[in-house]
Amino acid sequence: MQITADHVISFLELVAERIKEQRDYLTRLDAAIGDADHGVNLDRGFSTVMSKLPSATDRSISGLLKLTGMTLISTVGGASGPLYGTAFLRAGTAIGDRETIGPNELITALSAALEGIQTRGKATRGEKTMIDAIAPAIDTLKEQYAASGDLLAAMRAAVAACEQGMIATEPMLATKGRASYLGERSIGHRDPGAASAYLMAQAMLAVLERA
Ligand code: ADP
Ligand code: MG
Ligand code: MG
Repeated sequence: MQITADHVISFLELVAERIKEQRDYLTRLDAAIGDADHGVNLDRGFSTVMSKLPSATDRSISGLLKLTGMTLISTVGGASGPLYGTAFLRAGTAIGDRETIGPNELITALSAALEGIQTRGKATRGEKTMIDAIAPAIDTLKEQYAASGDLLAAMRAAVAACEQGMIATEPMLATKGRASYLGERSIGHRDPGAASAYLMAQAMLAVLERA
């Protein structure tokens, strides 16, 4: 399976659409343990990405990912903008000037994205952040692809792991980001960033299923 720039555009369009649909859900999650802006923040960011896409001059995979990353950093105030922005920038850099990418390059790009989030936010697993959804998903993707060589099956398993990781943030005590200000009161709520990461994982699977 080869992934093209058109697949990346479909992915970005689907993420923008899903974030818009789920904006109030994400914001409600953030109202419980943050400042009630996560859905609004990401919708602003991905809507701006959509408005920039038609006139983008570098329409390569890495060009599209870098445009997304820079747009998220400059338009999504809040913690999630620089974190997701760095993730897209790192993924773009990891892909370089390839016109299409296969499963191994996809895995490399996703791993680079996660590393970017960890470097930027200094969080590790178990701190009730987006990392708790993203890291198990990438682990599963790597393991399942290495075992079966079937990217689609591996991605389905990764999305399931992402969902489990998102749900697993509910009993966690937040020790990074705004939710950490609540201390024990952060327990019992789903992390908004883990929920948005799961939406992005679902969008990635949907695009691969159509590819
Ligand atoms: P803000 O908290 O600044 O209002 P958002 O509401 O848009 O920003 O995003 C909050 C989400 O960002 C959290 O739910 C969490 O998943 C993620 N987050 C916050 N700090 C970190 C961090 N240091 N590392 C990883 N993710 C983080
Ligand atoms: Mg917030
Ligand atoms: Mg905020």
